Amino acid sequence: MGVEARQETRGFQAEVRQLLDLMIHSLYSNQEIFLRELISNASDAADKLRFEALKDDGLYEDDAELKIRVEYDKKQKTVTVLDNGIGMSRSEIIEQLGTIAKSGTRQFFEALTGDQSKDAQLIGQFGVGFYSSFIVAKKVEVTSRRSGLSRSEGVRWVSGGEGEYTVETVDRPKRGTKVVLYLRDGEKEFLDGYRLRSIIKKYSDHISLPIGMPAEDKEAKGEETINSATALWRRNKNDIKEEEYQEFYKHVAHDFEVPLTYVHHKVEGKLEYSALMFIPSRAPFNLCDRQQRHGVKLYVRRVFIMDDAEQLIPPYLRFVRGVVDSDDLPLNISREILQHNKTIDSIRSGSTKKILGLLRDMTNKDPEKYSRFWKEFGRVVKEGVIDEPDKREEIAKLFRFSSTFDDKEEQKVSLENYVSRMQKDQKAIYYVTADRFATARNSPHLEIFRKRGIEVLLLSDPIDEWLTAHLDKFDDKPLQSIDSGGKGKKDTEAIDKDISEMLGRIKKALDNKVKDVRITHRLTTSPACLVADENDMGRHLERILKASGQKIPGSKPILEINSDHPVVQRLKQESDEQRFADWSHILFDQALLSEGGQLDDPAGFVNRLNDMFLLLSGDNVKER
Ligand code: ADP
Repeated sequence: MGVEARQETRGFQAEVRQLLDLMIHSLYSNQEIFLRELISNASDAADKLRFEALKDDGLYEDDAELKIRVEYDKKQKTVTVLDNGIGMSRSEIIEQLGTIAKSGTRQFFEALTGDQSKDAQLIGQFGVGFYSSFIVAKKVEVTSRRSGLSRSEGVRWVSGGEGEYTVETVDRPKRGTKVVLYLRDGEKEFLDGYRLRSIIKKYSDHISLPIGMPAEDKEAKGEETINSATALWRRNKNDIKEEEYQEFYKHVAHDFEVPLTYVHHKVEGKLEYSALMFIPSRAPFNLCDRQQRHGVKLYVRRVFIMDDAEQLIPPYLRFVRGVVDSDDLPLNISREILQHNKTIDSIRSGSTKKILGLLRDMTNKDPEKYSRFWKEFGRVVKEGVIDEPDKREEIAKLFRFSSTFDDKEEQKVSLENYVSRMQKDQKAIYYVTADRFATARNSPHLEIFRKRGIEVLLLSDPIDEWLTAHLDKFDDKPLQSIDSGGKGKKDTEAIDKDISEMLGRIKKALDNKVKDVRITHRLTTSPACLVADENDMGRHLERILKASGQKIPGSKPILEINSDHPVVQRLKQESDEQRFADWSHILFDQALLSEGGQLDDPAGFVNRLNDMFLLLSGDNVKER
């Protein structure tokens, strides 16, 4: 016996242990889904074999009729799922059934709350897969052989789902995988042919290979196919029930919940393809990661070609899940070829149009549903103006923002709403950006706008700085930040001499901290604010870049002073230079704080402020 054949006991990766534990306790009320998950894996395994066999049809080993079989044994108390798909080698089984390689695993565990019903939803969203076997089984035995390997290179994997599993090399004449579940006591309901049939019908009817079971009728002694076994996306829309779409979605998206909505379309003519695309109800954990897997599978004439075909959907729609099945592509198409393929480009642009149309319709017909969509995926859809500059206006119509119209954090205001409410002489769409909604809403720059009743968009998603850098106008109205130079500036000619003298003194006191000091009209209740020079990067963007560790040539802000404010009036009369300098620094630091920035020298700020308090209360300021 070779070294490999030895039986070996291994521990599960810590995450697997945690997931198993959670699943067994949280999904107890939804046990029957184990069968859906195992059938789904079997179907994927068949897809993979079909794909690999395009290059090497020897992999079929004289058994090209791919199928799935479900059996049960009342005596042994087992349920078995068998497939003749790609199978697993010893190292693959260790890798795939002992660890979780999914992207987003870390975020998933971080998101867990400990509340069982909430966590059950999260698990569903994460995709439970093979491990759901342990909801009903006290022991699971997987026997497999990868196609192409010799019969002596089979592998058996056994586990009770508690921390450990064993693997050994076994003789395995048949290619593919057999999963035997030894049911827990009390799970007898699954030892019933009719019950199993109804579960398969309910969850797996759309699976495109036949799922067989031994005929119940002992006399008949044959095999019976349980599902319809046609590719759902190829069927006629009118013949497909809502539940069938939902179950298909759960299969392709590895999701537990039903989708928010979907489009199913067939294109005929010069180019022929079918596409069935879903928008999930909830965002995945790693939504913001632009590298995350794309959820659209590519088929060519019903043969599965690849998962995550990123060329089929633009990055800003990466949450879309589904399948595209083309009649025109060659079966041996590779990822590299996809990148420069006219057929793929047309499919992508056709599908994008469909999805945008679907969303646009939803905004009109079901605004409540659209709000839910926006809450989950808005951050990503905003990337659209960057990804697809020539569709900018169309995509921008889908955007929703917070605004001073209602001061609500929920993003509800569309650019069209905004434009329809603009004042007669208003030329621009105004916005303010900050890293939190509360900071944006309380921005001192808003004061004059509120006073004049001009609506301002309150932007606080991290993407918003990029968004506004790329969306410079909408409906021919420029988008304008209220915290960059220009609008607040007062005509310097007209200001008093003593004020302009004061501005000079402040500038000198702040020395290298500011580019300029000037009078503003944008403030009414705050004494000062910081603005970026018109040609410089936005203040908020600069903070984001710095926080992300990028070295950027720090541009200096301009300090704008509200000359009507009592503090400024008081400052004008301050003759003590040291005190004047302290006041100036406090003004600067305050302005920085109120835009959500961080002070370079917080202790210095506190000291100065305390000195001022003492001064006001008449005490002497201690020598510093
Ligand atoms: P997922 O299917 O979401 O990747 P699972 O936990 O269900 O997660 O399965 C993990 C991996 O184990 C699969 O990605 C696949 O590589 C492998 N696997 C599971 N079942 C089978 C099977 N019947 N045949 C071949 N490989 C399988």
